[in-house]
Amino acid sequence: MSAQLEMPGMPRRLFPCTPSKLATFADCPRRYRFAYVDRPLPPKGPPWAHNTVGSAVHTALRSWWELPVPRRTTAAARQLLYGAWSHTGFRDEEQSQRWRARAATWLTDYVAGLDPTDEPVGTERTVGTTTERLALSGRVDRIDRRGDELVVVDYKTGRVPSTDDEARGSPALAAYVLGVRRTLRRPCSRVELHHLPSGTVAAFEHTDRSLANHVRRAEDIAADIAVATEAVAAGQSPDDAFPAVPGRQCSWCDFRPSCPVGQAAAPARETWSFLPEEPAADG
Ligand code: SF4
Repeated sequence: MSAQLEMPGMPRRLFPCTPSKLATFADCPRRYRFAYVDRPLPPKGPPWAHNTVGSAVHTALRSWWELPVPRRTTAAARQLLYGAWSHTGFRDEEQSQRWRARAATWLTDYVAGLDPTDEPVGTERTVGTTTERLALSGRVDRIDRRGDELVVVDYKTGRVPSTDDEARGSPALAAYVLGVRRTLRRPCSRVELHHLPSGTVAAFEHTDRSLANHVRRAEDIAADIAVATEAVAAGQSPDDAFPAVPGRQCSWCDFRPSCPVGQAAAPARETWSFLPEEPAADG
């Protein structure tokens, strides 16, 4: 993306990125700088309990699909969740155990509705593609085969059930579709958000147009990142090139301890306060 890499006749160097990297810059350039530019990495806050829940569920599901078919049972799913569980971020042992039981119920209800013989094409599979400006990669929770087509499946464990609009608007899911097409060389248009707590599925069928819109937005963000990076290289203050965008998100930003702007913008939260139905520590 650098001017010196775009001399006539030379191929343009692609900007390597993930959906998460682009989303970080789009949310707050300062957070992007903390996460991807500044080294050593600025101090981060402690891990969040809701991330612990999501991580354990994802790990258990990946491991469940790795079992031989006869062992893909609800009991196995529960055991895998217990094995993947950690107390990180919870207020205390009691809260952790309560959430472990809750997550185990989500998980066992979910796998009870799966056909264990319906082997996914991939679980936690890294896929990638290139666009005119980007080398885009990402890791898909699960890739299903439905007839002649592949389907991107993303597991969700948050408070609110996912919507079809969320599936349509997700830059990550669009990137996964493009990555699946390129990496696995099979048709792929459908994306699904599987919300385990509610047992619901939100979905969208991408078209060439919807994917082109996502690519355009991703390339616009990458161009903004390039401008900021080059500005710093040219001597601009990193604080100016990567401005802070304070807001409610500062409450849960991992880099809040390193960001005076974010500290002033939003109150600190206890690491368990984003668990659904847990009272927020700041009231
Ligand atoms: S605390 Fe807020 S302003 Fe600071 S980096 Fe995080 S999101 Fe940006």
